[in-house]
Amino acid sequence: MKVPFLDLKAQYEPLQAELEAAVLKVLRSQCYALGEEVEMFERGFAAYCGAQYCVGLNSGTSALILALKAMGIGPGDEVLTVPQTFFATSEAINWVGAMPVFVDVDEKTRTMDPSKIEQAVNPKTKAIIPVHLYGHSADMDPILEIAGRHKLWVLEDAAQAHGAKYKGKRVGALGHAACFSFYPTKNLGACGEAGAVVTSDENLAVAVQKLRNHGGIQRYRHDLIGMNARMEAIQGAVLNIKLKHVEEWNQKRRANANRYHQLLQGARVVLPQTAEWAESVFNSYVVCSSERDRLIDHLNQNHVGSLIYYPNSLHLLDVYKSLGYRKGDLPVSERLTAEVLSLPIYPELTHEQIEYVAGVIQEEWKL
Ligand SMILES: *Cc1c(COP(=O)(O)O)cnc(C)c1O
Repeated sequence: MKVPFLDLKAQYEPLQAELEAAVLKVLRSQCYALGEEVEMFERGFAAYCGAQYCVGLNSGTSALILALKAMGIGPGDEVLTVPQTFFATSEAINWVGAMPVFVDVDEKTRTMDPSKIEQAVNPKTKAIIPVHLYGHSADMDPILEIAGRHKLWVLEDAAQAHGAKYKGKRVGALGHAACFSFYPTKNLGACGEAGAVVTSDENLAVAVQKLRNHGGIQRYRHDLIGMNARMEAIQGAVLNIKLKHVEEWNQKRRANANRYHQLLQGARVVLPQTAEWAESVFNSYVVCSSERDRLIDHLNQNHVGSLIYYPNSLHLLDVYKSLGYRKGDLPVSERLTAEVLSLPIYPELTHEQIEYVAGVIQEEWKL
C-alpha cells in the first residue's frame, strides 16, 4: 500500500464539476481581483470565525504583515512569538521593521508557554503573536490577560487552525485580529495563494482594507502607504465552495487522529496531546521520536510519506544570528525540532491507510 503525505487530488475530485464551473464563471466575468465572490467569502468566513470582519488577501504572509502594519507596529518595536512555527510568522515582524522576540513553547500543546511570556516583556514590546500550531489552539486566556496588563496587541496566527476551538470558541475571534492562510495544504485551501485578516475591530479592518489596495479603498485614493495584496476573484469563488465543507473535513481529520491515537498505543513514539480546553483541527498529526531519521527511513521503505514541521527552531536560524540567541535558550522548542514528525492526516485518508501506517510504525517501534 502507498500512503502519500498529502493527496490534494482526493479533495479536488468530488468537487471538480462545481469548482471548475465557478472558476469558469469568474473567467467569463472579467472581474479578476476582489469583487463579489471575494466579498461573499469575506462575509461567510467572518461569520464562521464569529468575528465582525474578514479582509481577503493574497496570502497568509501578507495577512501577518498588514495586520502588524494596521496595529502601527514598526521600527523600534518588539513582538513576541514562538520559535516553533513556519518562518512567515517571524518574517512578518521583520518585514514591518520590528524585532521578533521568541518565547518558548509548552511541551504538551506545542504552542506558546504563557508562563514564559512575562519575562520577555519590556517597554519596547508592542504585540504578541501566538500560533495555533498544527491545528491546536494556543492557551489564549493567560496570553490575553498578560497582554491586557501590558497594553499589547494580540494577533493570532491561525494559518493552521481554521475552525479550531478554544474553550468552545473558534480561533480567529479571540485576539484583536487573526491571520489565516488558504494555501492549498491548509484545512481550508484555495486553488493557489490566498489569505485573510479576521477581526472585530473596525479600525483594524478598514486599515487592512486600505493597506491591501495601495492605501485606499477607492481607486486612486492613497491615505496610507499600502501595497497590492488583494485576493483574486478565482480564489474567492473556490473558497466559497470549500467553506461549506471545512467542518466536515475537520471532523474527519479529528476522527483520523483518534484512530491513530488508538492504533499507536504501545508504540515508542510520543503521541500528540489535546489540552482539555482545545478542539484541534489537526492540520498536522505530529509524533515525536528520538530516532526520527530511522523512523523516516522505515516509513519511506514502506511507501508512507512523512514531513518534518519544522526542522529549525527559528531563534537559531543564521538569519537571526544578530539577535544573539544560543543553543539551549529555548529548550522545549529545540527538543521538539529534533524529534517532530508529521504523519499523513488529510480527511480523505481511508481506515485501511491509517491502519497500515500505524502497523508500519508498530512493526519496528513496539515497546
Ligand atoms: C502557512 C503559514 C503561514 C503563511 O501563509 P502563506 O499563505 O503561505 O503565506 C503563516 N503562518 C503559519 C503558521 C503557516 O502555517
